[in-house]
Amino acid sequence: MDTVPVQPPKTWIPESGAAPKRDVWTAMARGFKCRCPRCGQGKMFRAFLKTADSCSVCGQDFTGHRADDLPAYLVIVVVGHIVVPLALWIETNYSPSVALQLAIYLPITLVSSLLLLQPVKGAVVGLQWAFRMHGFDDHADHQETGSSLG
Ligand SMILES: [Zn+2]
Repeated sequence: MDTVPVQPPKTWIPESGAAPKRDVWTAMARGFKCRCPRCGQGKMFRAFLKTADSCSVCGQDFTGHRADDLPAYLVIVVVGHIVVPLALWIETNYSPSVALQLAIYLPITLVSSLLLLQPVKGAVVGLQWAFRMHGFDDHADHQETGSSLG
């Protein structure tokens, strides 16, 4: 009588998820400084918003991150909450000419957005690494290979 090999069911139990915890704030702070969230030494980016393929110091693979549009969204939220109240306060108290106001707000918005974009993306990648999201889960079967999410 033949016996069919039985695959053990893939059920999550606490022991199967016993990977060591990663500190979220440390990883995000390292990412904000554009450093590797695991070792804090290697550079995370090879271009302005292009992550390196892996950490040059510890070899952590960065290709699994899925920051997508979240960094840009967060930068808009943060910069908007600084520039808009500032503009309202200046208009209410001093009401300078529109040209002067635009000459102040537009460069502030542009420069602060560009300055924040890379650190915020680093922090988002650090967050994903700390929570083992997406490609940072070394126990997953990597079935979500990102055909739809680019
Ligand atoms: Zn590293």
